[in-house]
Amino acid sequence: MSFFLRGSKTDWPGQPASAASPSDPSYPPTAAFPPTSSSMDISSILQGGYQHPLSRSWQSRRQLTKSMLMYPIFITDDPDASVEIKTLPGQRRWGVNRLEEFLGPLVKKGLKSVILFGVPMNCEKDERGTPADDPSGPVIQATKKIASLFPSIYIAADVCLCEYTSHGHCGVLHADGSINTEPSVARIAEVAVNYARAGVHCVAPSDMMDGRIKAIKRGLIDAGFGNRCTLMSYSAKFASSLYGPFRDAAGSAPSFGDRKCYQLPPSAKGLARRAILRDANEGADILMVKPALPYLDIISDAAQIAPDHPLACYQVSGEYAMVCAGADAGVYELRTMAFETVDSMLRAGATLILTYFTPQFLDWLEL
Ligand SMILES: [Zn+2]
Repeated sequence: MSFFLRGSKTDWPGQPASAASPSDPSYPPTAAFPPTSSSMDISSILQGGYQHPLSRSWQSRRQLTKSMLMYPIFITDDPDASVEIKTLPGQRRWGVNRLEEFLGPLVKKGLKSVILFGVPMNCEKDERGTPADDPSGPVIQATKKIASLFPSIYIAADVCLCEYTSHGHCGVLHADGSINTEPSVARIAEVAVNYARAGVHCVAPSDMMDGRIKAIKRGLIDAGFGNRCTLMSYSAKFASSLYGPFRDAAGSAPSFGDRKCYQLPPSAKGLARRAILRDANEGADILMVKPALPYLDIISDAAQIAPDHPLACYQVSGEYAMVCAGADAGVYELRTMAFETVDSMLRAGATLILTYFTPQFLDWLEL
């Protein structure tokens, strides 16, 4: 039994860190050692509480389940497309005709929800993002297809204009290139309502225009979707360096300037708190923090500011690519690190995780 003894009787080596495998048989027997006296204070001893894989899993307030995962997927306007996205390992742009082969196996594994991002490659883009809610466009077509193929899937749609505007910004612009807020908000609300009409269960505005939550909620109510469509706000979306692979995937880089006048400065904790509070008050049903890992304090703040709302966070493309790259470089094991990152988000207070790791988690999780 000396195998178990390293330094002290409470130092158990070789136990896996993952809480996801409580059936692991490697935990030590409890009755193999005679009692010994110790001068340690009772208050010093914590390890008795987490010596077993199952009791380790009890240490989390919230454990990851399949129903907490929302899978971001890219839908393009070539209906037969299945195109690899080089900067997002394992992710592809899909055409609507390929959704059955793409999603079918994931639904069998327990996929519960997706969020759609339209990637128009062939449409005529203009100043106001007209193709965003084109009935023949990728988001509306994919919504109808997924709803008919997989009626159990919860369908969310990202709502923004940047993939559809000629200038690549998320709103409508003044002549000088600055955001023209009122027409931006009106157009974004119009798109959201048209996605609701197409059958999405949730609209998720990612544009960060002032006042869009109120406008979308009003629009949904007036169009008869007040009780039929959830409004998930990207409330605290930061101007992050971690969106690069997404822009590559969605073709949504702005043609001039950047998004720093509407996305939040990375250091802006107070502003993020105000944005979360504002969106909760304007009628958001779910609040979101994006990106996730560098903003765990903001997730924690959101959980405290709006404790009665579901709280989402988006493990964005660059976070995903970073975790994959580290695993490829041998820094850590992919699965262990994927769990560690997502567990940090749950610990901070998230109840819903948007992540490109969803297909792997469906394999890794039992429930
Ligand atoms: Zn945008």
